This record gives sequence, structure tokens and C-alpha cells, in this order.
Amino acid sequence: MRKNDSISIPVILKVGKGALEGLGQCLLDEGLTDVVIWFGNGLIDLFGLKVMESLKKSGITALEYQELDTVDIDDIITLAFSLSNQTKAVVAIGGGKVIDAGKYAAFLRGLPFISVPTSSANDGFSSASASLIVDGRRTSVPARLAYGILVDTEVIRTAPEKFIYSGIGDMVSKITALYDWVYETEHGVGALNDFAVMIAKKAVNSFVRTPYASIKDEIFLKELLDSLSMSGIANEIAGNSAPTSGSEHLISHALDKLLETPQLHGIQVGIATYIMAKVQNHRHVRVNTVLTETGFWDYAATLQMKRSDFLRAIDLSPAIKPHRYTYLHEEQYREAAKELVMTDEILQRILTAD
Ligand SMILES: [Zn+2]
Repeated sequence: MRKNDSISIPVILKVGKGALEGLGQCLLDEGLTDVVIWFGNGLIDLFGLKVMESLKKSGITALEYQELDTVDIDDIITLAFSLSNQTKAVVAIGGGKVIDAGKYAAFLRGLPFISVPTSSANDGFSSASASLIVDGRRTSVPARLAYGILVDTEVIRTAPEKFIYSGIGDMVSKITALYDWVYETEHGVGALNDFAVMIAKKAVNSFVRTPYASIKDEIFLKELLDSLSMSGIANEIAGNSAPTSGSEHLISHALDKLLETPQLHGIQVGIATYIMAKVQNHRHVRVNTVLTETGFWDYAATLQMKRSDFLRAIDLSPAIKPHRYTYLHEEQYREAAKELVMTDEILQRILTAD
């Protein structure tokens, strides 16, 4: 029998227009009156004033207020243990890096973490693990799900569009990830958690079925961010990242390893999702529709990504997570994926021939 370990879900969850202005009130409501605030690089200029005004209005003290540009685990350990004992919460405002740093520092000190993503590039803001540099290598380190998630859709809207495309790619990947998870448990590897499957499936289905005119519509952005938040919670329920990360993520992780300058996580993942949905012969029409209609493919086509890099990444993919058993852990499906890279019409348009 599998036991139901207690899971933690965010106490604060605010996704919507103007959410950043409500930061102070959210903290006050939870009694988090003294906080450390870390911003991503260059973001004090953009959001500092708004954040400070919000804190001031609610009488919240910022014990520390600075920009941070490191995900080196040693730096973060040092920072974490230099935090004042008065600290009641760590707030991180920015993209992936500062969120990972804040998440891990809060985890080390047993403090609530408030995640305030300023871009929708991936689901890291709602995941329990942190991606840090350990001994010079990017490594996924266990941490804890955020106590609070606060996303201002107005901020997301003004970030460069590539971050929205990246979020779209990371979200649509739940389709292939879930299929891989079922597949591997059918092969006696891992254990399926039906509730986590349901949450992740509902998240992605709700997202792909949302009607919109532009990817900058409030309804589209809210749906994207809500769905990314729900995915993180599916991982928390499962106790691992299987609900949201399957063979398509292995290709992206392999590209990260192989390339000097990889593309945004969700861009790589989105392309790999299309490949794997075709290999799995599962919902690839839907995946293609989303990537076409949002403009994801048009953006991806501008990046000059190489066919040969994808071929190498597919070969490397099973070694990225040897303990798993996704479609890419079988040679016949790696061959099928490589065949698609060479012949599929859409991929011919996106990837360059060398
Ligand atoms: Zn991802």
C-alpha cells in the first residue's frame, strides 16, 4: 500500500491583473510582517517602486532588498544563513533564477517562500525543486513548494513575447509527459498517482481549450499561469516531477547539456512535445494546433535551431534520467523521433538542415 504523505499546497494564490500591488496586503494577511525581498537582475528599476509602495501601505518591513544574479548553491547557502532571525518570509520577484535562489534559501531556513514570477517562461515558480549550480553543473535540488504564488498578468503581458511562447511550450508538454508516465508504470517502473494525473490533465486541457484572440488577452494569460501553477501542485502530489516532465523534457535537458547557448526551456520543450506526441501517436493534432495558432512555431522558426542538435539530444535523452522509462528509453521510439526530425514537414520549417 502506498501511503498518502501530507502534501503542501500554496496558502496564497493570486493570479491576475494588478496582483503585484496587493503583495503587501497578502503578506500582512498571513502575519509575514518582516520579509527579505530578492529581485532578478535589473528588476528593481522596473518593479521596485510598485513593490515598496505596496509594502509600505501594509506596514511590511523589508529587512533586505536587493537584486540577485546567482544560482550557485554555495552563494545561496551563504545568503540563506546570513538572513536576519527576524525574517518571516523570503520573497523572490523575477524570472527563473531568482525564484530558484529564493525557493532554496527559504527551504534551508524553514521559512515560507513567496514566489512572484515576472515571466511565464516555465513552471519553475510553482515547482518544489530548484535548479541550481552544484559543482559547476546545473542540478535539480529538492526544496519546497511556495507558500505563496503571486502572478501579475499585467507584468507577464509586458515581458518579451518569447517568455509567453516558452510558457506555452512548457504547458502543452503535460500532454506527452502524462502519456509517458502511464507508459512507464505499465512497464513496471514508478507508480502512477491518479489524482496527480487528473490535476495535470485538467490543467493542460483547460489551457488548450481556452478561446482567445491574442496570446496577450487577460483570459489567455490567466489560464496559462493558472495551469502552470496547477502543474506544480500535481508534482507535489506525486512526490516527483513525472506528471509534468516526460520524454519531451529529456530532449530539452539533453539540449541544455549539448549546447553552449540553449534556447528557453519551454521553447525546446514545446518543439520536443510535438515530436513526442507524434511518436506516441497521441493528441499531436491538438499540440500542433496550439503551437500554430499561438504563433509559437513562427517564433521558433526564427531561432535557427539545428536538426543535428535534436538528433544528438534524442540519442542522449535516456541517459538524462536512467531510472525512468519513457518512450525515449526504447530504441524503436528514439529512431521514430529522429525520423520525424529528418522528414516531418513542420520540423523542416523550424529546424535548419545542418
Ligand atoms: Zn518544464
